[in-house]
Amino acid sequence: MSERHGIFIRVEVEESVRGDAALARRLEEACPVDIFAATDGRVEIVESNLDECVLCELCLDAAPPGTVRVVKRYDGDAALERTA
Ligand code: SF4
Repeated sequence: MSERHGIFIRVEVEESVRGDAALARRLEEACPVDIFAATDGRVEIVESNLDECVLCELCLDAAPPGTVRVVKRYDGDAALERTA
């Protein structure tokens, strides 16, 4: 699991999907505050934007179940996720 974290929010992406170019594009398009970037066909997390997360869950809808988690560090690490 790769993860990047801000002060309030941590985003985790399963290693197995980091190299999925189509998913990288979907995540880049889905997130309204540009937390995901499709860089060289890989899912990159833009650390400097993490704390802009609005908890909209659009990234969870765009990704296969269980591959992306949004963790609220300020709330005891409560996680937003889709399970399979
Ligand atoms: S929950 Fe919304 S704002 Fe937060 S990372 Fe996912 S798509 Fe971006």
